[in-house]
This record gives sequence, structure tokens and C-alpha cells, in this order.
Amino acid sequence: MFERKDLESLEKVKFDDAFVLSLFLNVSPQERKKQAYLSKFKNLVKALPEKDQNACKEDIEKIEKFLQSERESFKKSLVIYSCSKKDLWVRYDLNVELKDNLVVDKTPYTNPLFDLLDNYQKYGVLLVDKRTARVFMVFLGDIEEYGMIEHEDVPGKHKKGGWFALAEKRYERHIDYHVKMHLKDVIDKFGDFLKDRDIRRLIVAGPDEAISHLMDMFPEEIKMKIIGRTNIEKHASKEEVLEKVLPIIEGYEKSKEKETVSELINRALKNENSVTGIDDTLKYLRDKRVMKLVIAKDYTIDGFVCESCGFATTQPVECCMECGSCVMKANNLMEKATEMAIEQSALVEVVKDEKDRQRLIEYGGIGAFLRF
Ligand SMILES: [Zn+2]
Repeated sequence: MFERKDLESLEKVKFDDAFVLSLFLNVSPQERKKQAYLSKFKNLVKALPEKDQNACKEDIEKIEKFLQSERESFKKSLVIYSCSKKDLWVRYDLNVELKDNLVVDKTPYTNPLFDLLDNYQKYGVLLVDKRTARVFMVFLGDIEEYGMIEHEDVPGKHKKGGWFALAEKRYERHIDYHVKMHLKDVIDKFGDFLKDRDIRRLIVAGPDEAISHLMDMFPEEIKMKIIGRTNIEKHASKEEVLEKVLPIIEGYEKSKEKETVSELINRALKNENSVTGIDDTLKYLRDKRVMKLVIAKDYTIDGFVCESCGFATTQPVECCMECGSCVMKANNLMEKATEMAIEQSALVEVVKDEKDRQRLIEYGGIGAFLRF
């Protein structure tokens, strides 16, 4: 798993005159049959200009060796940044498919990973009981554990009986106090964790009693982020936790996509601060009026882009309609639109569910909620 700060520090590395090789390779189980991914890599290398092949000879050999020996640990995609001259080797195993690509340049090619950060939601998971709490993050179908909070000083409950029953009331209060202090500490630490990592969706897990105490104590801003709850054994492995929370996340994403697509289309039909179709969307992107861009996953639209001002259109024009410069044929205006949206800090939502995706494609495969 990678985070924005990892990519930012990768971009800060001084490569001087050295070249860095950036590889994106689909290594899903089908690709691993007969080592298909390995021939794909070799083809990507062959397609590089000869000077790039020579500049990164050492790195190419190193990656080839790695691809042959490490395949047991692969997930769906593999991302490698390698620069032997600077002793740099960064590897990410991802559970999403990426477009195969091999780039040789003076800086690492990080755009595809920044795109993932912009387009996919991170989910926090809090697994809590009266004295312990574990914190996880789920991103791109993967899970990572970020630590455990334990308060040993919560006293266990004794058996009821005899003379002790008189003191029971006071004792209960004592337990409540310790549990409360524990949960308060958990909430503080969890709140910081969510802020640090910019996590906006949550799942809480644990016994009913602990969760209902927690719900009473959570500040409103955390409560708003909760998308579901479940019960998970407190010593569960992270794989078991993932298995329990994935259906909640998938259900949430599906319902959200459906809602977004319907709202976009309905509002666009009524002319209520929404548009659909690439040309209208691009127009509002140019005016910086897009609040949220909605796109159908893997859908492409051909068109033309102005080399000097960035104007883009599906209309077959020879000169830019804005500045009169030459236009270039572009094979994916969706990418151009996404780029523009990210540049102006608009949200981007990728519609993945096939039914909703088709519905959006009927309206051009792209649309936007507008700012005013
Ligand atoms: Zn132009």
C-alpha cells in the first residue's frame, strides 16, 4: 500500500543525470500462467528507444530477474521504480489492475498512482472492545493494520455473590469509568489517524455493548463517516478483517454510484447545475465551474486538443476555437477531462458498477456537478 507522502518523497529524490525506470505491469493470476507477464515486460523494453534501453540496462536486468523469482508474492499489479545508479528500488503490489507501461525518464512517473489516490476511497476500520482497539485502513482492495491500543487497567468483572453484592453498584460505576476512559482515548487517537490519512469513510466493529458506548461518545464529524458496522473477533487476522468488511464497502460503493449517476442525469435533464456529455463537461471544466466530475470506468472518447491552450473538443476542427493554434488528435478526452478536474481540485468519481456505467454511457459516459 502506498500513500501520497510516499509519492511526494519519491518525487523529491535528486536523480541528477541518472534515469529512473518506472514500470506498471498487470501480473494477475491469468498473466502468470506461462509467465505471460514476463513476455509483456520484454515487449515493453523492446518498444523503448535504444538510448533509453542502454541508459537503464542494469535496471532492466534487475527487474527481469525479479519478475522471474518473486512471482509467488504478486497481487494484481506490480509497480516498480528502479534507478541502480541512485540505489533506488521501490516496489508496490496492488490489488487493482493498471495499464501496462514502462517509462524511462529523469523523474519517476507517478501520475497513475496519484490518480488512484484521487479516484479511490480509503476506508478506516476500528475494531474495538472494552479494553482494546485495533485500527486498519482498506484501500484498493487491500488492508493494512496501523496499530493497537490496549488499556490493561480495565478491571475484569468478578462473579456476583454474597457480601460483595452490596458493593456491586459502586463497582459497576468503576468499570464504566475505565471503559469510558479507554474509549475516549481510542476516539482521540482514531480521530487523529483519520485526519492524518485523509480517511472519509469508516466501519466500526466489535461487540454490541462497546459499539453502542462508542456511538454515544463519537463526535458528530466521525459519526457522519460511518458506513457500516459488524462484529469481528478481536484477535482476527487482517485477512479475516478484510473478508468481513469488503462486502460492506462494495455495497456502499454500489449504492453510492447508483445515487450519483441518477442524480447527475436527473439534474442535467432539468438544467439544475449539472451537465452530461464530453463537450459540455469540457466547457465547464475550462470555466473552472466543476464541483464533481463523474466518469464511466474504462470509457474512451476521441477528439482534438489544442497544443497551446489546452482547449479540447470532439468536433473535427483544424484550429483551436479559443486561440487559433494548431490542434492535435487525442485518443482519450476522458483522460484530459480528469486531468483538468484534478488540477482544479474537483472531486472525481469513477463509476465501476456495470449497470450504472451503461446508464452513464447512454448520456455520454461523462458528466459533472457544477459549482453554481
Ligand atoms: Zn487553443
